[in-house]
Amino acid sequence: MSVRAWIGLGGNLGDVPQVLRDAAAMLSALPDIGSLQLSSLYRTPAWGRTDQPDFVNAVAVLHTERAPMDLLDALLEIERTFGRTRSDAAGDQWGPRTLDLDLLLYGDAVITLPGLTVPHPRLHERAFALVPMLELDAGIVIPRIGSAADALARVDRAGIEALP
Ligand code: ADP
Ligand code: MG
Repeated sequence: MSVRAWIGLGGNLGDVPQVLRDAAAMLSALPDIGSLQLSSLYRTPAWGRTDQPDFVNAVAVLHTERAPMDLLDALLEIERTFGRTRSDAAGDQWGPRTLDLDLLLYGDAVITLPGLTVPHPRLHERAFALVPMLELDAGIVIPRIGSAADALARVDRAGIEALP
């Protein structure tokens, strides 16, 4: 049985639009991932730490028979392919990154595993994820939270602009 899963893509180092498109293509090319759709790309002001370049964010929706943990492993592998720099230094959790891939939703599943929480725990408070999700499905519902449109109405979406 194939499940509809949502992936968040983002980055703020290098040619991010190109990296996001390439990462989506790489994901889409995996044998057990089908019918991937990529949202528009959005420029979003840097959050957490503001002394860094703006982010570019998008979401992809796909169908897969992969188990959630196998899907996450594929995402982390693609992150590594694009050379994301991880820093363990305090305060750098939200520092510059080449590519960040998050598993936002996996069907209507609620998952709490070591290393994997779905829905992504900050999805409902991140306009840069909600805006592109709603572009692809205006009726999307986040398990345990409710309608994504209602979640977006509760957060600040200032400065989020679709790239031409
Ligand atoms: P964030 O994406 O929230 O800014 P990071 O990308 O730095 O944070 O966190 C990556 C780690 O978070 C991964 O090693 C992964 O095991 C864990 N993680 C837990 N749930 C998820 C999820 N739904 N999607 C992606 N990573 C997750
Ligand atoms: Mg991540």
